[in-house]
Amino acid sequence: MGKVQLHVGIIGAGLGGLAAAISIARAGHKVTILEQAPALGEVGAGIQIPPNSTRILSRWGLLPAIEKVSVRPQNFILRSYRDGRILSTQALIPHCESVYGYPYLHIHRADYHKILVDEAERLGVEIRLGSIVTDIDFELPAVHIKNCPEPFTANLIIGADGLKSVCREALLGRPDPPHLTGDLAYRIIVPADSMKSHPLLRDLVAVPNINYWMGPDSHVVSYLLQGGNLYNIVIACPDNLPELVNQQKADLDEMHALFQNWDPQLRALLELCKDTSKWRLQNSREMPSWNHPSGRFTLLGDACHATLPYLAQGAAQAVEDGAVLGHLFEKIESRSQVPDLLVIYESVRKPRTTRVVNGSSQLGREIFHLHDGPRQRERDRQLLAWQADPF
Ligand code: FAD
Repeated sequence: MGKVQLHVGIIGAGLGGLAAAISIARAGHKVTILEQAPALGEVGAGIQIPPNSTRILSRWGLLPAIEKVSVRPQNFILRSYRDGRILSTQALIPHCESVYGYPYLHIHRADYHKILVDEAERLGVEIRLGSIVTDIDFELPAVHIKNCPEPFTANLIIGADGLKSVCREALLGRPDPPHLTGDLAYRIIVPADSMKSHPLLRDLVAVPNINYWMGPDSHVVSYLLQGGNLYNIVIACPDNLPELVNQQKADLDEMHALFQNWDPQLRALLELCKDTSKWRLQNSREMPSWNHPSGRFTLLGDACHATLPYLAQGAAQAVEDGAVLGHLFEKIESRSQVPDLLVIYESVRKPRTTRVVNGSSQLGREIFHLHDGPRQRERDRQLLAWQADPF
């Protein structure tokens, strides 16, 4: 029996939807992406690409383009909040290559997104901008688009429409707002040049490392981006945003007040911030299923497993979802196999992404955000012991 070509509709051109489009187009299928935004783009911030993603990006031939605009961190460093004392240094080079076979990278989101868009378009994926999906008829399947008289139809629809997914709510048949985690994030980018001559900050840019400061209820992650020209800072701290506001311009005095008792090096770093916003961090409750019983619809990425970013795995898991879908649809011989392949997709992916969502929350609660006291002292003791004898 010969291979059948499917027409696959993907809702959402985020990192997850694009990864799925590339993977499914590489498997020989026709792919159309419906994206609500009038223009393509990503948030102006950095993102960590761990080896489970670089493995897939390498298979797709995209690693050289990604590496060209990335920074390869040498060490993963955990520090105490009060004085910046190093509690643990894990050498990512050569650890990632020798254990996983692929590098750990830092990239600007806009660069990552553009590389995926270019590759999707090179493979013939059609991206329809300004297509705001309002509802889905799962049986046909057909997608209803705002101001569009004709619904969009395809053999399979994939909902990759992120945290506030219309697709997830349509599948559940009820409102399902994202789950509040109690935390929010400040995202900051500063020019690395401003750090190079600063007596307290030059160490941070001398070597490309990932630096974490861990303190009560909060932590800070920082790393170099874009050939070492930019320095990316993410602060995670308790959520104090008004009830219905998910993002707000930050008051810098309020931000500095949070860190008044923290390491002077970190305080000097935050002094470089001229302007930022704070974003509510939300995640997902595990769904009973990502698939519709019709066997013609599934979900991926933040639409079904949004996570706190503490393991740096949200986009990485969405890329894995896309890779698995493409792999499953590589040798499909008949459209009647689609429902069974979606069952396999969910059974492979859902337990792993649930572990990531729960693991990220646990990492915040039980490691990063401990208050001073016996548990924090035991954490620090174990990290220091591990630092002395890591593997
Ligand atoms: P999204 O990026 O949300 O994309 C959804 C797309 O769907 C958007 O383009 C949107 O416009 C479109 N859309 C939405 N609704 C509709 C509609 N009705 N019709 C049509 N289109 C629609 N992950 C990592 O792997 N590493 C990290 O270091 C990392 N750091 C992070 C730091 C922070 C502070 C945060 C908040 C997250 C971080 N993540 C990280 C997580 C990562 O950003 C997300 O998991 C990832 O971007 C999700 O991709 P997605 O494609 O599933 O969803």
